[in-house]
Amino acid sequence: MTSLANLVDYHVHTARCGHASGTMEEYVARAREIGLGEMGFSDHFYVYWLPEDQRDPELGMAAHQLGEYVAAVRQLQEAQSAVRIRLALEVDYVPGWEDRLANLLACERWDYLLGSVHFIDAWGFDDSRYVARYQEWDIDQLYERYFELAMAAAESGLFDIMTHLDLPKKFGHRPTRDPRPLYERVAACLKRADVCVEVNTAGLRKPVGELYPAPLLLQACHRAGVPATLSSDAHRPEEVGQDFDRALALLREVGYTEVAAFEGRRRTFGRLS
Ligand code: ZN
Ligand code: FE
Ligand code: FE
Ligand code: ZN
Repeated sequence: MTSLANLVDYHVHTARCGHASGTMEEYVARAREIGLGEMGFSDHFYVYWLPEDQRDPELGMAAHQLGEYVAAVRQLQEAQSAVRIRLALEVDYVPGWEDRLANLLACERWDYLLGSVHFIDAWGFDDSRYVARYQEWDIDQLYERYFELAMAAAESGLFDIMTHLDLPKKFGHRPTRDPRPLYERVAACLKRADVCVEVNTAGLRKPVGELYPAPLLLQACHRAGVPATLSSDAHRPEEVGQDFDRALALLREVGYTEVAAFEGRRRTFGRLS
């Protein structure tokens, strides 16, 4: 396996989100153990669009935990030098909330922000508790609707990276029509918005058993000139850097020669050696 010293894992959670385990030190220890150069904590931001008493504590940190989260990441940045640690968040995109969200996020100097679409009109479609609702949809229409939201998220200017870009496949619901025209639109949109795509290995651990995004979607991104970055979406320490050999193989196969990295929301690139 290739050296991970030039590489990043930019999607790592903490127990604050209510569905991840382990201490932050254990995530960093795992990164060090596998020789990873850089890791970003990108825990789920709080469920900002709902009133406080209606927020599901299993979906994200509580609002009052944000300051403590930031302090804990900064402390780990200073406590050790083996792994560069970045400060980030995974943030749900909810249409109509752009300005308020920008204000909520302005409180910190983030290294980067991951944009997520986990909800279609209040349906948490990647949540196994609500998987029965896929039956109410024509799958191709679901993908159209989902990607409209993902494109609006990219265009919002709030995010540096769009994460798990084809998330509706998580439980195995794949497009039935040729998805390439849709993928072309999505890739062109990310390019215009100057947002990165993320190759995320979590899909390999889900029923679909495939990296996010699908090879055809990553190919479209590469052809459009969209930069790519790399992540595990770890919710347990041992998942940091998991299956990166497969992610790197796909990136290379599609034609990528470098992956994007961020500091203070400025993008640089590390070569895929
Ligand atoms: Zn999560
Ligand atoms: Fe997510
Ligand atoms: Fe995540
Ligand atoms: Zn995620």
